[in-house]
Amino acid sequence: MRIGHGFDSHEFRAGISLKIGGITLAHDQGLGGHSDGDVLLHAITDALLGAIAAPDIGALFPPADAKWKGADSAVFLREALKRVRDAGYGVANIDASLILAAPKIGPHAGAIRARVAELLGVAGDCVGLKAKTPEGLSLENTAVAHVVSLLEKRPAKKLTADRARAKSKKKKSKKR
Ligand code: MG
Repeated sequence: MRIGHGFDSHEFRAGISLKIGGITLAHDQGLGGHSDGDVLLHAITDALLGAIAAPDIGALFPPADAKWKGADSAVFLREALKRVRDAGYGVANIDASLILAAPKIGPHAGAIRARVAELLGVAGDCVGLKAKTPEGLSLENTAVAHVVSLLEKRPAKKLTADRARAKSKKKKSKKR
């Protein structure tokens, strides 16, 4: 197994749309950045890359490269996932904490978790998401994301699935 950690922060700016976890949220400000500013997808991307000791998101997608201006951050996540799979791993689960003053994430948490699960190719219950307000911290104009990821070697997972299948077959044949 491998564990990874990702961190990211972006500043709120007026006049742009807010994207968090691949979902566009109604808000009077968005998150600035060279790409679409999706702080959560960036932290997840780094959590996956970190778990396989790959170069981080800034090294793979340099902000200086005009190619990534306004880019959909799902592109970064998909590349990280490809590298994870190429290294022989699958995603077991991720857990994320968002820290931001507004908007309230609760009403959108289900949609964000579902979208992230879809991007990662995992079940919905493999994506944890908590949102905190930055009480006592001077982060009124900033969104912060922390993410940990757990990866597992693919063959081991297959073995487990094979064993489970074999067990259920055994049970069925006993019943007959
Ligand atoms: Mg970022």
